Amino acid sequence: MSILIEDVLLGGRDTNVFIEGNIIAEIGRKQEADIVLDGRGKACIPGLINAHTHAAMTLFRGYADDLNLQEWLEGKIWPLETKLTAEDVFWGTKLACLEMIKGGTTTFNDMYFFMEEAARAVLEMGMRAVLSYGVIDLFDEGKAEKEIEATQDFIRSVEALKSSRINPALGPHAIYSVSRGTLESFKEMAMDRGFKVHIHLAETESEIKQSKEIYGRGPVRALEEMGLLGPWLVAAHSVWLADADVRLMGERGVSVVHNPTSNMKLAVGRAFPYKNMRAAGVNIALGTDGASSNNNLDMFEAMKLACLLQKFYTRDPTVLRAEEAVRMATGGGAAALGIAAGKIEEGKLADVALVSLRRPEMVPLFSLRSNIAYSANASAVDTVICDGKILMEDRRVDGEEEILRRAGEIARNVASR
Ligand SMILES: [Zn+2]
Repeated sequence: MSILIEDVLLGGRDTNVFIEGNIIAEIGRKQEADIVLDGRGKACIPGLINAHTHAAMTLFRGYADDLNLQEWLEGKIWPLETKLTAEDVFWGTKLACLEMIKGGTTTFNDMYFFMEEAARAVLEMGMRAVLSYGVIDLFDEGKAEKEIEATQDFIRSVEALKSSRINPALGPHAIYSVSRGTLESFKEMAMDRGFKVHIHLAETESEIKQSKEIYGRGPVRALEEMGLLGPWLVAAHSVWLADADVRLMGERGVSVVHNPTSNMKLAVGRAFPYKNMRAAGVNIALGTDGASSNNNLDMFEAMKLACLLQKFYTRDPTVLRAEEAVRMATGGGAAALGIAAGKIEEGKLADVALVSLRRPEMVPLFSLRSNIAYSANASAVDTVICDGKILMEDRRVDGEEEILRRAGEIARNVASR
């Protein structure tokens, strides 16, 4: 199977992108292909990478807003989550995939439960994903054992799928919800088998206090002591950090995922330490977080809010420029997740989005990266290709109506249980 994207804007000029199998095979030359896409009036960008989500939480979109974090989580979200079934997670994840595809996202890094169902949804939707079963043992030894088993079962189930689009990862929820024993056994699994470790880290000030109570030190120092800081670690949020923590994360090759919308909506009280992260050489990715703390999965909006939050918080309009936000949403995510995507380049995975330039908010086009980071939103995406397959063309995705109907029904049903 081959695809030629003809006369598309890439790197400041109109060119041709030739995809063979699941790889970007050649850029420049026009050539015969099974499918030819007209790229005129469109820009070719790497498929966006949403590096921190809880996809099935689309079912809770708009269900509990404008609450403080603890009330939101413990009073509203956790009680509903205990009532979720495997089928609910399947349809919630399908809805998330649909929304992400329609916004130019080709890969996401997900942590939730009933992850076998999430994997099935990803497989059907044609996206790429790193999936982890979210482990919460609440320092209970029996529960810890069960959670580690559930993680191993999930990894085996993903391996049985034999899909190169889905990678399993380890998902200890956070340092205040997972015991030392579990974290240490995950470190062993990460080292032995090359899994990524997806964790929430330093999201709130109270997490720092809890970590000090439990481990006698802040979360970064505690993870360092357990040997968990390393290139396998994908640390969502990473907001409440001392300068020395950030430097240590840089030295250890940790990746962080900034979630500006979620941080602002849940009022975490501080901005992601972007300047320090950059100075320390930390790889920075971008995410939306779950739809109940966002409330959408629009990576264009995430890029814009990441830039605006930094500028506002630091009183410096030169910090976090448009091209840096685009890099966080593409190459930064690919590096965090260890996948050969995030760039339109020969030999990379064919994960591509075509963004329409014939829209009012995209005219004039002095700077594509400015228009992408500041002007565009998800609806500017016209075509999405993942792993060499077309998932959306002219904004149409197969099976869209059924997903909207089923997910809507299920969400109402869950809320009334
Ligand atoms: Zn999260």
